[in-house]
Amino acid sequence: MTKILISACLLGRPVRYNGSSLSVESSLVSDWRNSGMLVPLCPEIAAGFPTPRPPAEIEHGKLGPDVLSGEASIFENNGRDVSEQFVLGASLAVKTAHETGCRFALLADGSPSCGTTFVYSGHHDGKTRDGLGVVTAALLEHGIEVYSQHRIQELASRLR
Ligand code: SF4
Repeated sequence: MTKILISACLLGRPVRYNGSSLSVESSLVSDWRNSGMLVPLCPEIAAGFPTPRPPAEIEHGKLGPDVLSGEASIFENNGRDVSEQFVLGASLAVKTAHETGCRFALLADGSPSCGTTFVYSGHHDGKTRDGLGVVTAALLEHGIEVYSQHRIQELASRLR
């Protein structure tokens, strides 16, 4: 059976930094869930972060791949460097995908972990910029196809 790694917050789990979720209204996702195709994971919770937690952003001018290679950091809005824990979350996401046979991932866009098309600026000013989060970068490096919650139809076409 095809398996899809999915950001746990997209299934209504209140695991985001502020204790909220990002439920998607999609009959496709409901069908996949009912068929046992979805493998939910929050990489940040897996890496030991609590909920709620301070918001974190990849440093300005850098992206997920730079964090993975050690050339960039991720900082909470209080200045704490949490790069190591984010990289741990990314490696746990790759491990989970491999162990459960996921060749696809459906991730919540905008997150410093799960972002697939954009992340926040790095200045904690609410602005965004194009680019990948650290989990997305790690999954892509390992050959897993990644889609955001805005590309569910595209993922469905790919599965047909
Ligand atoms: Fe967890 Fe990813 Fe959702 Fe952030 S976007 S809460 S890391 S699953």
